[in-house]
Amino acid sequence: TDSDTADEAVRATCDDATTCKRFATSKGYWKDPYMQYFARSVGERKAPEINRGYYARVQGMNHLLDAFIRKTECDCQVINLGAGLDTTFWRLKEENLLPRKFFEIDFPTVVARKIHNIKKKPPLSKPIIETHSTDSLLLDAHSLDSDRYCIIGADLRDISTLDQKLKKFQLNQELPTMLLSECVLVYMTPSHSSNIIHWAAESFHTAMFINYEQVNMSDRFGQVMIENLQRRQCNLAGVEACQSLESQKERFLKSGWEHADALDMMTVYSMLPQEDVARIERLEFLDEKELLHQLLQHYSICWATKDKLNLGISYITL
Ligand code: SAM
Repeated sequence: TDSDTADEAVRATCDDATTCKRFATSKGYWKDPYMQYFARSVGERKAPEINRGYYARVQGMNHLLDAFIRKTECDCQVINLGAGLDTTFWRLKEENLLPRKFFEIDFPTVVARKIHNIKKKPPLSKPIIETHSTDSLLLDAHSLDSDRYCIIGADLRDISTLDQKLKKFQLNQELPTMLLSECVLVYMTPSHSSNIIHWAAESFHTAMFINYEQVNMSDRFGQVMIENLQRRQCNLAGVEACQSLESQKERFLKSGWEHADALDMMTVYSMLPQEDVARIERLEFLDEKELLHQLLQHYSICWATKDKLNLGISYITL
């Protein structure tokens, strides 16, 4: 059916994210020794502005996530919604920043691929086994559950099944919780994404939600971005919610979150440690600065918090 085709195109977007991240790391934008196990070849060259965009995206997300984990002294859990082939679990393990449990959700077919890779590659499976205390590690074709890391196949549009599965795998509603969605909500209707945002606010008394996606999409440049994705059968059902930084914040504030902030990625780029930015700007020559600025102005990071435990997480910023 049409909706199966659309879902298949959405699932394929995780390969885009992975190959772009793989290419940028191969150029030295940032280090990720685990990416190679999910994307075997470096693939074709990506334009410098794309690489810089991914650099800002990864640094921005990591900065906020790490700040949350430090504030909670690792006494927290993370739920990565639409995680794709993300490697954050392994980075956190390596940096001694593992939360009590790290959950990932994606469509069952994406999850099956990820688990297949984990099973075959010792550098991926070893850290999972090392952080597991008993012999009860669950590792079958469609789910993985260990003490510290859990991958669940589920459709994010079906909240009750999602909630049920997370609880089955020991989600703890009392723990400070980080929810991540990186280029995910834009593929769902605004009502599906507000259901998730609302469910998250109801489920945890102390939590932070970080959402990365397109913004300012009503101008000419935004229209061209939408057309490019549609050409690949990819339905940006949620693009309505991406009109402005205000609308990004608004959907959290009206769904039970106490505090919300949003920045476009050009602003994020200018706030990143400037020494490191100078380093990556030397990696590849970029003639057309204007193109980078335009591109970065059409993506944003929005984060929302609620803090019953008064941990100070609403002060986390870039
Ligand atoms: N967050 C990862 C990253 O940034 O590297 C992957 C991003 S990729 C663009 C979007 C991911 O969201 C895909 O892996 C896709 O399968 C997943 N996704 C989109 N809609 C979903 C849904 N309704 N249920 C579960 N996963 C979904």
